[in-house]
Amino acid sequence: MHRLYEQEDIAVFWDSVKCRHAKRCVGASPVTFNRERRPWIDVTKAPAKEIWQAVSACPSGALTCVYTHGIRVTLDESGLKSVAYDGDKVIGECDYHITPDGWVIYHTEVLPEYGGKSIAKRLVYKVIEKAERSGAEVSATCSYAVKVLAE
Ligand code: SF4
Repeated sequence: MHRLYEQEDIAVFWDSVKCRHAKRCVGASPVTFNRERRPWIDVTKAPAKEIWQAVSACPSGALTCVYTHGIRVTLDESGLKSVAYDGDKVIGECDYHITPDGWVIYHTEVLPEYGGKSIAKRLVYKVIEKAERSGAEVSATCSYAVKVLAE
């Protein structure tokens, strides 16, 4: 299970398959990580720096994070894509098909001048999370998305 939790300053990725439930994240930021709560991660309750430190304490690699640099990522369900914005400017997108066998991500692209900020990973996670929440299988023909799914 892949989940993306975002607030203005930071985006947190969680891969449940890797989570060993060591709870170091809980110890480092209990307001953000709380196993008794649903959803168990809430990135709106602590400053980005505290969340970053808690994510860094994760021993399994289940948690990773990036600073958002003011870039917003949204899902456009009717357009079958996730889209990244810098203000009103579209700076990246991740496109998918819905097939009888599941969702297939076939294209991910971010403007070169926005590289190195993990925006593509946020775009792909946005689609994967929605597919999983919809109960659909998710796969990719886009080589970048293939890599994210295999991480
Ligand atoms: S520290 Fe990492 S492995 Fe441990 S509970 Fe948190 S997410 Fe899972």
